[in-house]
Amino acid sequence: MDKLVLGIDIGGTGTAMGIVDRRGTIVVQRTMSTTGHDTVYSFIDALAKEAEILMKHAGREKMGGVGIGAPNANFFTGEIAYAPNLPWEGVIPLAKLVREALHLEVAITNDANAAAIGEMTYGTAKGMKDFILVTLGTGLGSGFVANGQLIYGHDGFAGELGHVIAVRGGRKCGCGRYGCLETYASATGIVRTANEWIEERGMVESLLSKQNNITSASIFEAAQNGDGVALELFDYTGKILGETLADMVAITSPQAIIFFGGLSKAGELLIGPVRKYMEANLLKIYKNKVALLCSALPDADAAILGAAALAW
Ligand SMILES: [Zn+2]
Repeated sequence: MDKLVLGIDIGGTGTAMGIVDRRGTIVVQRTMSTTGHDTVYSFIDALAKEAEILMKHAGREKMGGVGIGAPNANFFTGEIAYAPNLPWEGVIPLAKLVREALHLEVAITNDANAAAIGEMTYGTAKGMKDFILVTLGTGLGSGFVANGQLIYGHDGFAGELGHVIAVRGGRKCGCGRYGCLETYASATGIVRTANEWIEERGMVESLLSKQNNITSASIFEAAQNGDGVALELFDYTGKILGETLADMVAITSPQAIIFFGGLSKAGELLIGPVRKYMEANLLKIYKNKVALLCSALPDADAAILGAAALAW
């Protein structure tokens, strides 16, 4: 029986959804705005309308369930709790609302966990039982898979690598604490480092000092053109990430660490330093055993596939 599922990725600005088959083919997909709805209820109404159009197209009777990836979404409770990047405050019973709107079973998890499940089901981690997925976007998200299962922890919040303290007493993080990994190793983090360096050192020799609005993409571009400071920025970012990953390897002994998201597009410019500093800090028994890989799933599809994989 050719069952289908609906995968939904709810982001801070946009929501993407698609109908996915067993092999990981997205049969049809749509996007909508997450913002601009007065309440979460009007958002769910709009989402249900979009979903019904897709399901009608693919065959409503084939629909086996719905998987949703969203920031701060909890697999166990079915709730989104205090998501700083979403327009709704407090605790939202997301799974229940979508179940009532679509009359299908609904499973939810946070976006990084969904990406890890997507990689395991359809992507680079296919067949792997022990790996860490690291998403390097605005923040740093992670999903830890051990013994073939995603680690949820006792209440569903396991695997917050972005808020492991990488630098004691370091930068202030959005979570209110200091020195979290994501304040250094993320698209936002590398830009923060660049701006700090410009303020402290001037860096007139760098292409970056002439830019009014440095982005991770402009740092990448400068590094590709051989800009010494841009290369040093990748080295510094890779050092902090690599050192922290060396610690993580000691906990779950993964076969691979898979990178996903905006900053990972820098490829070897970032992965090279990460590998160097991770290896230099690994316990001997782990050395030269952990593969560092980039996700092969197209960005636009990965989030939908991850959410869909959850539904199976
Ligand atoms: Zn933090």
